[in-house]
Amino acid sequence: MKVAVFSTKPYDEAHLRSFNADPGHELTFFEPRLNARTAPLAAGHEVVCCFVNDILDADTLRILAQEGVRLVAMRCAGFNNVDLGTAAEVGIEIVRVPEYSPHAVAEHAVALILDLNRNIHRAYNRVREHDYSLNGLLGFDLHGKTVGVVGTGKIGATFARLMIGFGCRVLAYDPRINPEIEAMGGHYVELEALWAEADVISLHCPLMESTHHIVDAQAISKMKRGVMLINTSRGALVDTRAVIEGLKQGEIGYLGLDVYEEEADLFFEDFSNQVLQDDVFARLLTFPNVIITGHQAFFTREALDAIARVTLANISAFERDDAAGRYTVTL
Ligand code: NAD
Repeated sequence: MKVAVFSTKPYDEAHLRSFNADPGHELTFFEPRLNARTAPLAAGHEVVCCFVNDILDADTLRILAQEGVRLVAMRCAGFNNVDLGTAAEVGIEIVRVPEYSPHAVAEHAVALILDLNRNIHRAYNRVREHDYSLNGLLGFDLHGKTVGVVGTGKIGATFARLMIGFGCRVLAYDPRINPEIEAMGGHYVELEALWAEADVISLHCPLMESTHHIVDAQAISKMKRGVMLINTSRGALVDTRAVIEGLKQGEIGYLGLDVYEEEADLFFEDFSNQVLQDDVFARLLTFPNVIITGHQAFFTREALDAIARVTLANISAFERDDAAGRYTVTL
């Protein structure tokens, strides 16, 4: 099939090409993000392949449909950036990669926890300046601490298992019970109890209307003073302004983000020669107890291989009308 790949980085092209020998789809790579302005680039393609910050709103989907696109193959798990109602209306099917490496994201969440706790980011700079003092670098034993996991699907459960390996007590919240959590020694509690009891809180639920700003000023007020908050899921799960206030007041003691509400205009690009225009993001960068990575939790070799393999398999299954062979997103 003719596939227009948007938001292409060199690593996307390399991985998709390396798994395309057998399916043999005709891949055209475009660097720009997909939105209503760039959608006409898809003319002549039956499939577009997109990533987390492409904008698949009603306008974009209508243009894609006019250009003859019948399938959108998301090369990610989340699809919060897709207007599913309009996609159904204009006859475009959406497929995704539901699981590529829960380990990649869960391990990155752990990396943020360890880095924040032991101040590795500050120690790195100190040692390079021949400053071997330890003042301000005091951490805590993770062993014995209570970790709250919000969302216990594939990534949340993988993360919970890693935390249990550290000797932590795991409290979980998810409207859907995953028996793995109880089996590994975790306990489901109501969200209020999780906020109140956890020393570390890690978000692993999808972004939906019901989870938008799940961490807001009210939630923060219920958390332990000095709590560590980790978000590797989607930026808008967290009300960034409320979190900044929480950091200023010491209510939040540590913040680790791999995602940010307004990341679409920042992440995955090199702006090192430009003046940062986002004042909220700029404020976040001033805190010594905040670490931000630019949506890289998924970024392991194994995950990129799996993303490429499943994305191409989804497209092949669409081509041969094999509904069971592809991961279709339904409303
Ligand atoms: P999953 O579908 O396996 O699990 C999501 C879980 O969240 C489900 O168990 C669901 O019941 C639960 N959930 C739904 N509503 C909830 C609520 N209100 N409160 C708590 N839990 C709720 O998904 P996954 O593969 O574990 O991925 C989780 C999220 O991680 C994705 O939605 C995506 O946003 C994010 N993600 C981020 C990266 C990254 O690179 N940073 C990579 C992959 C996925």
